[in-house]
Order: sequence, then structure tokens, then C-alpha cells
Amino acid sequence: RAASEAYAGRTTLDVLQEVWGYDAFRGEQAEIIDTVVAGGDALVLMPTGGGKSLCYQVPSLVRPGTGVVVSPLIALMQDQVDALSALGVRAGFLNSTQERADRNRVEQAFLAGELDLLYLAPERLRVPETLELLDRGTVALFAIDEAHCVSQWGHDFRPDYLALSLLHERWPDVPRIALTATATEVTHAEIATRLQLGEARHFVASFDRPNIRYRIVPKDNPRAQLLHLLRTEHDGDAGIVYCLSRASVEQTAQYLVDQGIPALPYHAGLDRRVRAANQSRFLREDGIVMVATIAFGMGIDKPDVRFVAHLDLPKSVEGYYQETGRAGRDGLPSTAWLAYGLADVVQQRRMIDTSEGDVAHRRRLTAHLDAMLALCETVSCRRVQLLTYFGQAGSEACGNCDTCLNPPQTWDGTVPAQKLLSTVVRLDQRGQRYGVGHLVDILRGKTTPRVTQLGHGELSTFGVGADLSDGEWRGVVRQLLAQELLAVDTDGYGTLRLSPGSGEVLRGERSVPLRRETASASGKAKAERG
Ligand code: ADP
Ligand code: ZN
Repeated sequence: RAASEAYAGRTTLDVLQEVWGYDAFRGEQAEIIDTVVAGGDALVLMPTGGGKSLCYQVPSLVRPGTGVVVSPLIALMQDQVDALSALGVRAGFLNSTQERADRNRVEQAFLAGELDLLYLAPERLRVPETLELLDRGTVALFAIDEAHCVSQWGHDFRPDYLALSLLHERWPDVPRIALTATATEVTHAEIATRLQLGEARHFVASFDRPNIRYRIVPKDNPRAQLLHLLRTEHDGDAGIVYCLSRASVEQTAQYLVDQGIPALPYHAGLDRRVRAANQSRFLREDGIVMVATIAFGMGIDKPDVRFVAHLDLPKSVEGYYQETGRAGRDGLPSTAWLAYGLADVVQQRRMIDTSEGDVAHRRRLTAHLDAMLALCETVSCRRVQLLTYFGQAGSEACGNCDTCLNPPQTWDGTVPAQKLLSTVVRLDQRGQRYGVGHLVDILRGKTTPRVTQLGHGELSTFGVGADLSDGEWRGVVRQLLAQELLAVDTDGYGTLRLSPGSGEVLRGERSVPLRRETASASGKAKAERG
């Protein structure tokens, strides 16, 4: 049978019911699908789990020819094709990992009109033979998955995606549907421009995930804090724990196993078979905790992930939203938990300063980090902050996040900020720069060997900050860094220096409201004091 005949005369609802066995379309699926079936372009913003795949799969079956899906997720193509084949949908993929013979087979099937869906890695479109191949067959539509990758402003830019504007130039009559699960208004607009989707209908689903409880806590002893969360609130639940480094993935997984929790590691440095085995255990078995780098999660469809925990600060709100969005796809109450501390800010500011790329690139990274830090330090509803970031302003406080349930107090940190900054100034006058530990020792008036050796007991700010604990001082430094009233040096040691904003604070032209640390952090501070 030819693709064009297989579903001839069927409505899109027939196809949904007969092929997928679902009763009805969800949300805006029906309207999106109708738009594309009728030959129109669509730009779809829908959170993870919203059901984006059907938006291009159904039209690919109903329209004559093959639906061509451009996706950067090469590692998932085989799974996607297998899942479709199991439903009787004829699918194939072309990417650079594949054997010549396999590629030939897929190309022949496409030319013979025997494919409903063809998944294509974006770099394939740089190869003239691929373009000629598409010319010789019949393309039902182009689907551009993870469309935010075309945005240089976004958090996951992929240069190969810029070439996708050629789809419209070369095949102006083929409808296109671009889809993404993360886009701020700026990114959204950039996608439309770069992909020449001027005529497209825009479908923007709500980014609200009311069943997810967002919580961001001061990092203190992250593994113990995580263990406490799992034991007290998520005993026996499946979840994902994100760590920044491979080493910390392995150590954390081992730590949890030692505590009797069924945890598995996942990162790009593990053997491919180990990775696949761990992933399939996570999907199939109940109550597995996957400890992973962000390499894990794209395209993972597990509905009952009860928690997503971050032990390190994500680099952007988009990343955070995407990762936490893997929790609670079944709509049941779930937790998004993040432990965040001073070292995270220091490390990420430093990584940006030393990153490759031009000034504009660093400025983008900084803007992404600043938005993430603003979410961490906010004293109002986390969900409102998130939705506002994604252009959905005007939502009401959720009553379910940590700041709603336990509103943080603020306090006037202007004087401590001035004490700290003037210590930095005084050291700077001596040509010296230090990290947070030594600065806090000076402020608290500790005569450590280093203080004695360097003669820092003579500084006029020595001991002026004895009223705050170590933990409280670290909180002050963290929040000053978050607000860019203090900066991290590029030397790689996390030393602190003034930022352009410091002057206003020092001159008393700007006050510094700070978030009072929550119970666990002040408990720690008390322990340190006593
Ligand atoms: P996304 O790509 O937006 O993250 P998916 O396309 O993977 O989401 O869909 C998420 C899950 O919801 C999948 O298991 C999918 O089969 C299911 N789903 C999507 N649409 C429907 C529907 N209309 N009825 C029932 N289940 C659906
Ligand atoms: Zn809230």
C-alpha cells in the first residue's frame, strides 16, 4: 500500500482511534492537526508531555506523502521508529550514525512512497543528496522538533538549525510545523523569524504545571538533604536527580545505593550498553531513582516520575523548566526540588567569564543565569515567576510552591553588604583578592593563621560583622552575586571583586533587600555558631 492510500478517506479522529487507540484529541491537538492537514504552517509551544508528537504524526498519515521530521535527538530516533512500527506506522530515519545499507533501504522506501514518517538529523540537510532525495519523493509536511534550537538567544542553540530556513525556500508549498517545549517570548519570536513562519498560526499552550510543587532550598549538605527528601516524602517513588558533573552523578548514585535506595547512574561517559540498560530499568521497574547529568531525559516518556531533584543550579530557566517538567506527567502531585548555594553562583559566573565565544554569547549566558538566580531568590510565588518568564503574566500565586506555603521573610541587608564590599575594596587597595571563606573570617573577626600572617586583623572592617553567622554571611554573598552587586574573578579560584553595581551600594545610593534563609539554613548557621 502507498502512504497516500493507507488512510485515505479517514478523518484525523479515525486515525487517532485506529492507529493509537486513543479516544479523543487533547487540548489544541485537533486544531493544530487540522491546520497542518489543510496545508497551513503552525508554530506550537506546548510543555513536555503535552502531546506534541501526534500534532505532526497524524497529519503525516492523513496527507499524501511522507512526513519529514527534523530532530536533533539522534539517540532517540531508533526508539521513535520502533514505537511507531509497533503501531503499524511505517517509519524510518536518516542520520550519521547509521550504516550505508540501512540508509539505502530507508531512502528506497521513501522514494517508493512506503514511508509515513521519516526522521532526519538536521545535519543531513547540509548534504545535497538529501535535498535531492526529498525532491524526488513526496513530502507531506516538515516537522521541526525542538524548534528552540534555531534561536541564538535560546538556551540550546544548534547551528545546523539555521539551515532549516531553506525548507521553506525550496519547498514553499509543503506545510511546516515547528514545535518546542521551552520558549520565552524572545525565543518564540526568533523561531518565527528564522524559520520564516510569518504565515504560521501560533498555538501556545499553558506552561502551567499545577501538580508540580516547586521548591528551592539553600544548599547545605546536598546529599543528606536529598536523602531526607526521599525518605520523608518520596519513599519508594521513581524520580530523577540531576547533577552537573559525571563524577558527582556516580558518587551520588553510590551514596543513595549505600543508603538502601535503588539508584542508577546515567551520563554520557558511561558505556552505551550500561546507559541503555539503566534507562530501560528506570522505565520498566517501579521506584528507581535515576541520578543523571542533563544528558538524560529528552524524549523519556515515563508518566509517574514523582520528583525531579537538582543538586546543582541549572544554567537557565528553560533548562530548569524542561528538566522539572519530567515530573508528574500523569497529573498527580509531584515535586521539583532544587538545592542551590553560594558555590553554584561562583562556579557558574566563573564558567561564563572563561567560556569560549564572543561578548554577545557571554551576555546571553549571563542573562540566562540571572533569570535562574532571580527564580531562586524570589520572595514571591515560584510558579508566577516561571510563567511570567515564559510570557504568561497575570497568573495568581499558586498556593503550592515553597514561597507560597512558607513565605520567606526579607531583611535589609544594606549595612552588611556595605561591610562586605568595603572589605573587598580595602583588600583591593592592597592588591589582594580573596574568596568568600577568608572574607567572612575577616568580617567575623576570626584570627585564623592566614589572617595573622597577612595582617588582616588591622583592616578597619575586621570583626565588624560578628553579628552574623558564617552561614548568614554566605547567604549575603550569594545574594549579592545573584544580584550582580558583587562579582567573581576570572582567575579560577572564586575570588571576589567589585561589580559595576557595587558602587551604588557602597555610596548608600541603593538598598539591598535580602531573603532571610529558611529554617534548615538558619539551623545550620546556629550549629556553626554554637
Ligand atoms: P511531548 O512530545 O509534547 O512531550 P508526547 O507527544 O510524547 O509529548 O506525548 C506525551 C504522552 O501523551 C504520550 O504518551 C502520548 O502517547 C500521550 N498522548 C498524546 N496525545 C494523547 C491523546 N490525545 N490521548 C491520549 N494520550 C495522548
Ligand atoms: Zn506559589
